[in-house]
Amino acid sequence: MARKPTLSPSKISTYLACPVKYRWTYADMRGRYYLRARSYYSFGTTLHRVLERFHDSGDAGVTTTHEALAALEESWIDAGYGSAQEMQEALGEGRAIVESYVDRVTLEPTTARTLFVERTLRMDMGDWELLGRIDRLDEREDGTLEIVDYKTGPEAVCTEDVLGDLALGCYQLLVRDRYPGKPVVATLVALRSGERATASLSEEETQELLGDLRFLGDQILHREYAEITPIFKGLCRHCDFLPLCRQHPDFTQPEDPLADDEEGVIG
Ligand code: SF4
Repeated sequence: MARKPTLSPSKISTYLACPVKYRWTYADMRGRYYLRARSYYSFGTTLHRVLERFHDSGDAGVTTTHEALAALEESWIDAGYGSAQEMQEALGEGRAIVESYVDRVTLEPTTARTLFVERTLRMDMGDWELLGRIDRLDEREDGTLEIVDYKTGPEAVCTEDVLGDLALGCYQLLVRDRYPGKPVVATLVALRSGERATASLSEEETQELLGDLRFLGDQILHREYAEITPIFKGLCRHCDFLPLCRQHPDFTQPEDPLADDEEGVIG
């Protein structure tokens, strides 16, 4: 039997940001030739790898600050940096983040136990499957499951960030589906500052999100992407696919490179 198509929070977010970008990223192979490495992806992926090893009980090699810093050097991804100096600055920043994170976690008494790190969960949505890769899942002493998501960009996080984050909403659905009956919360950790914010979707919000995902999933998987006219908007200025969209006869880019047209894309 053929496997069902899958959608992840990043696929859905890409579609919501621009359906044409979704086309070039996931539905039309020509897009892959235009993708460029980005330093912030490299930086985020490196830090995630170090924390994965630090929290993985099966990995005894990264338990101290010194070992975590060695893991950072080992896991370092250098793609996407504009110069050697830029990369050295990022490496210095990465060292500071890892050092303060490990010091903080080592000093904080915790009674929660980590159930897994960096694991992909799936959930049947009818015609398709929802997929999500969770940074870490902890079980608190009272049985509550806590999804932990690391953010490398922001210094500050708040409960609204948790509630408004599509990925964290999807992860809550996935964990509830995998562990029925267990209370589930989601926590964002701003790695630069150590700030944390925790929130949980209510039953009503969960049902609303499920309904939205079913609607969106159907639209994403059945859209005729070749028929969509790309429309210039702020996002285009930093988009790898701009050269492709420029080939469309109806795509017009304003002459003023700083003009910010936030209009959507029409189908
Ligand atoms: S250049 Fe603009 S319209 Fe084209 S894929 Fe990127 S964001 Fe979408």
